[in-house]
Amino acid sequence: MLRPPALLAVAATLTTALSLVTGGPAQAADPPPAQVETRTGTAAPALVSGLAEAPRSGDPVTVARGHLRGGRYGIKNVDTDLAPLGVVRDGADETVRFEQRHQGVRVFGAHYLVRMSKEGDAHKVTGAGGRFLTGLSVSTTPRFPQQLALNVARSRVAAESGGDGAGLTAEPGGLTVVPVGKGLLAWQVTVRGTDARKRLPLLADVYVDARTGAPLFASNRIRTVAEGPVVTSGTTVRGRSVPLNAHQRADGKYELRDRARAMWNGTTGEILTYDGQGRDVFEFLGDLPAGTPVVDSDTPAFTGKASEIGAVDAHWGAGQVYEYYRRLGRNGLDDEGGSMSSVVNVTDSGRPFVNAFWDGTKMVYGGGGDDAYSLASALDVVGHEMTHGVVEHTAGLVYFGQSGAMNEGLADYFGNAVQAEVEGIDLADPDAGLLGEAYCRTLPPRECALRDLNDGRTGPADYVGATGRIDSAGVHLNSTIFSGALWDIREKLGPRTDKIAYKALSEYMTPLDDFTDGRRAVLAAAARMRLGAGDLLTIARAFDAHGIKAGWERRIPTDHDVLLRGITDIYAQPDAAGDRYVITNSSADLSAPPAVYTGRVRGGKAELLSAPDGQYNFEPATDGRTGAWVTYADTGSGWKIQVWSRPLDRSRPPTLVHEGDEDVLNVAVEGDTVAYSLWDPATGGYDLWVRRGAAAPVNLTPQEGVFGRAPSIRNGRIAYVKLYLREGPRRMLIATRDLASGQETDLPAPQSPPDVIGLTAAPVLTGSHLVWVQDAQQDGRAGIMRARADGGAPAAVVPDDASALELMDMDATDTTITYSVYPDLSVPANENMPKITQMPATGGTPVRVTCNRGEQAQFAAVEGTRVVWVDGTAAHVDLATRARPRGGC
Ligand SMILES: [Zn+2]
Repeated sequence: MLRPPALLAVAATLTTALSLVTGGPAQAADPPPAQVETRTGTAAPALVSGLAEAPRSGDPVTVARGHLRGGRYGIKNVDTDLAPLGVVRDGADETVRFEQRHQGVRVFGAHYLVRMSKEGDAHKVTGAGGRFLTGLSVSTTPRFPQQLALNVARSRVAAESGGDGAGLTAEPGGLTVVPVGKGLLAWQVTVRGTDARKRLPLLADVYVDARTGAPLFASNRIRTVAEGPVVTSGTTVRGRSVPLNAHQRADGKYELRDRARAMWNGTTGEILTYDGQGRDVFEFLGDLPAGTPVVDSDTPAFTGKASEIGAVDAHWGAGQVYEYYRRLGRNGLDDEGGSMSSVVNVTDSGRPFVNAFWDGTKMVYGGGGDDAYSLASALDVVGHEMTHGVVEHTAGLVYFGQSGAMNEGLADYFGNAVQAEVEGIDLADPDAGLLGEAYCRTLPPRECALRDLNDGRTGPADYVGATGRIDSAGVHLNSTIFSGALWDIREKLGPRTDKIAYKALSEYMTPLDDFTDGRRAVLAAAARMRLGAGDLLTIARAFDAHGIKAGWERRIPTDHDVLLRGITDIYAQPDAAGDRYVITNSSADLSAPPAVYTGRVRGGKAELLSAPDGQYNFEPATDGRTGAWVTYADTGSGWKIQVWSRPLDRSRPPTLVHEGDEDVLNVAVEGDTVAYSLWDPATGGYDLWVRRGAAAPVNLTPQEGVFGRAPSIRNGRIAYVKLYLREGPRRMLIATRDLASGQETDLPAPQSPPDVIGLTAAPVLTGSHLVWVQDAQQDGRAGIMRARADGGAPAAVVPDDASALELMDMDATDTTITYSVYPDLSVPANENMPKITQMPATGGTPVRVTCNRGEQAQFAAVEGTRVVWVDGTAAHVDLATRARPRGGC
């Protein structure tokens, strides 16, 4: 769903160059040799190891704070700026994890750890490290109202997920400081609902700049085992017998409530398995709905339905995972003996939900279907999902890009390790590295598996360059690069690798770590465990073999011209015409909110088009001579939403087209004519408005229950998506209208729901023609239609039949149609990421625009065959262009 680079920028700003120096910070007399790895942009080192300070008495948090006192590592207010998250104990090792506070506000992803060794009642500091920003000075007083931040988050997610936002709710979180530069104050907003394009549960945290209202980045809260619903084929049944810990209620029935584990303290610390009773998965995002029953049985034997829905597997598997982590020294997912809950038997709109996820508080499993058992039947999947809970309570690796791929990779590793240990799997078995190989009813393991930790993928050769619209910037697509390295280590060093990886996760890693940080954490943990030089070399070689070493991203090839390097606006969408483009972008450190830039598609410097007033700008559009966009403006008498236009040559200052209190989406411009969709709070939808020069704006969709989105203007004509949402079946049409005469034609329309297609691939007036996307069967496969600009003589360029395309986006010129299709994420490879493809406007053989291996995201057709697009190939995001298609790749 959400686009990426902002978070990548945060990570890049915070990680970058590491240098290794000897000689630690100032110490008491006779300091031992210490190693210090610095972190750019902060005085607090990434890693300090080899300390042997004089033992001090007191509790571990006090001793850890004492170590950091006196400005050591540049941390000034040790008592107020470090909030203890917990203490991890491993034999004599004690690690205190702190989270940074700035004037009392939580700093996103900034964890700092102090490592000690217990000697009697005293504690000897041995090391420290993580992420603490010593240069924060941002004010913690918000300017942008929290209520408006909710609207921004909801409407941006709605636009991105292809819906009209009707099914999305936004709930306020608190203030957070984003750790870049001097810091950015942000509102956290939780958006919940359905991703209309993917038909997946959506639960995302959006961080909105509390000065300007600009969305800074977003993070998915749902931790799945695979990106999309899993598709398999086959049919049969199976059954096996496992011991279960159940609980007999007062009414004599038995229920899946396990109070026999070490974490049970008389009131809490249970393993609970609930029956979702076939209800929709979307009801289970967040708090467990009141009245959801624990799975029960009249007899102590849980068979029949409890088996079929996966309750027995989920309950037994949770116990196995608990005991596995207990052997690593952990008391439950939160390490505090908190109850562990699973919900089984949920569906996806009445269809089987063949997937599973951790939502931050509990496990949710579908009930399987004709082809698959519940995913709870695969112990590695149970271990995988529950490990997400462990990660959340330890390093909290942010579910985005490389840190997210490590979050997934650790879940892969521990999931497989639990299974290997409980089922006695020999790692020499070629199928030992398969994840989720056992839930299919008939498919053989290798075909059933979701991933293979022995797939041999490396960063430079195989990293899937997703921009964030896909798989939270590749969290599943890139996980085996990291988990593969860990698995290789386990093959060589055996099960003690579990301890190394767990120690790295709980005592070294922090939320924004990238692969290179992960390598350092594993090596540091192993060194702390006193592994010999040979074993440490084995670990280093495993990471080398997967291409994980500092600077690996620079080795990825591309074939585009770069127009703008480093797109940091997470919702950047280019538009282009003539020889010009417009796009919004933020600064590298996000300190400037997105502004509108324009440049020439043949290259050269981009120029600022919007006012240099530090306000948040979005939805830019151009006809090649004029640009238009939307601004969230602090006018001095309240926040207003404005639409502006300005010549691209900047011969005049911006002209105010519209100002109001309601949300604006989808801008189009031609000369002094500007169209925009404006939220009508009375009817609960977006009306399409057009303003021509100084004349009063006109609402093109004033009728009750009729709405307008996605306008395109050319030669005095407008085309748009017309939605009938209130009376009769929800319909979506393409309308084309002569702006002078007001004559409008509705094109013969598919009876398709409005949030499936069309809003993400707007109709296009090319000059000579009107081109649009059509999915009459609502099967997710769309054709491409082309007619005269007035709607006459419509013809299918790509027929909307069963062989049509799963179109993701489309744009067109008089001669050429450019499109992308939804990725096939079942195989984690760059080949399956969205690619931009072109064909002649009247149809023909599609050819690739660029052979870049990664995601080619938001694009705009310019003239002829030229395209500009947002490209994620190089593990960062650029605005790219090519004049002609590359062809065979
Ligand atoms: Zn996962």
